[in-house]
Amino acid sequence: MKKKIQEETAKLFDWLVETRRDLHMHPETGLQEIRTSAKAAEELQKLGLEVKTGIATTGVVGLLHGGSPGRTIAIRADMDALPVREETGLPFASKNNGVMHACGHDAHVAMALGTARVLAGMREQIHGNVKFIMQPAEENLGGARDMIVEGAMEDPKVDAIISIHVETHASVGTLTIKSGPIWASADAFVVSINGKGGHGSQPHDSVDPIHIAAHVIVAIQTMIPRMLDARDPVVVSVCSIQGGTAFNIIPESVTLSGTVRTLSQERRAVMPAKLEDIVRGVTATFGGTYDFTYVPAVPVTSNDPGMTEIMRGVAEDLWGAENVLDMERPNMGSEDYSYYVKEVPGVMGRLGAAKAGAERYPAHHPKFDIDERCLPFGVELLSATAIKFLNGNV
Ligand SMILES: [Zn+2]
Ligand SMILES: [Zn+2]
Repeated sequence: MKKKIQEETAKLFDWLVETRRDLHMHPETGLQEIRTSAKAAEELQKLGLEVKTGIATTGVVGLLHGGSPGRTIAIRADMDALPVREETGLPFASKNNGVMHACGHDAHVAMALGTARVLAGMREQIHGNVKFIMQPAEENLGGARDMIVEGAMEDPKVDAIISIHVETHASVGTLTIKSGPIWASADAFVVSINGKGGHGSQPHDSVDPIHIAAHVIVAIQTMIPRMLDARDPVVVSVCSIQGGTAFNIIPESVTLSGTVRTLSQERRAVMPAKLEDIVRGVTATFGGTYDFTYVPAVPVTSNDPGMTEIMRGVAEDLWGAENVLDMERPNMGSEDYSYYVKEVPGVMGRLGAAKAGAERYPAHHPKFDIDERCLPFGVELLSATAIKFLNGNV
């Protein structure tokens, strides 16, 4: 089937480029993916898939039944764009002012639809089902969770999930992959430090929350690395601080907020208490009080070892072992793909998409762009990995 996948994918190149450019021209931010999801649903329906729409607002699920019964594998694509003003100058640049596909999700949708075309053409040989999960709002880090809550992983129950993300720092024709954690968890905290307001000239009659906040920030940044084993990493950043109205008034309170990133569930679990201990101790020392809120958001994204081996093996078989690169270390950013891989074994690989000879811009940059020659590689990889999982060989 490998040869058939490669032949069918090669025929799709122009269509993949056209589809990706159409999506690129009409980007929509999270939960607004109306045109994008309508297009995805239409393409999947044309192929005779069982299609459900309106899941988690704009999500689409397409189910392809193979010719014989078996397990179900899901292929996930995220559909949302970003509130970024595009500066690529491309002829197919965004027509939606201030919104841009700056993370390559246009390519993800095109590749998932291309995979649906390839696999629909060989459905008789497939043992089991392939479920296409086209989700909204990855950038808001909530789309995946809502898709799961609304049943995207059920009926039939998904046994495993695969996905790819374009990688503009790796060459076209490569896969970068690793087993275990690849993206961090992302949680938020908000601390209000309450003191006693007064005149700036008379701090002895006040409890100065700005002074306490300064100590809290320094204590967080010095205590976390002293208290927690550096071999299980954590990043804490205080990213906002608000308080005060004038140069000579000590305010009543100051509010800080920040983000916490970890690479393990164990480390993630201890962070609320560790942070609150610091806040409690420092504010008490200076005579203030506090309110502490910890907002769990996204879990760690961890690639299942077995699924990683399947995708890695398929890529080596398709493109040669020299084009399959080890991801050296996880990224402390986050992906809401984490929610799926908490439910079932799954893997996300990074598909090489660097534009040869052009300056490389990271994801979310206004000049971000991919080399479209990566698109058929993605289709081949997703198609062959799904078949390998379901049929045992490609
Ligand atoms: Zn992104
Ligand atoms: Zn992305």
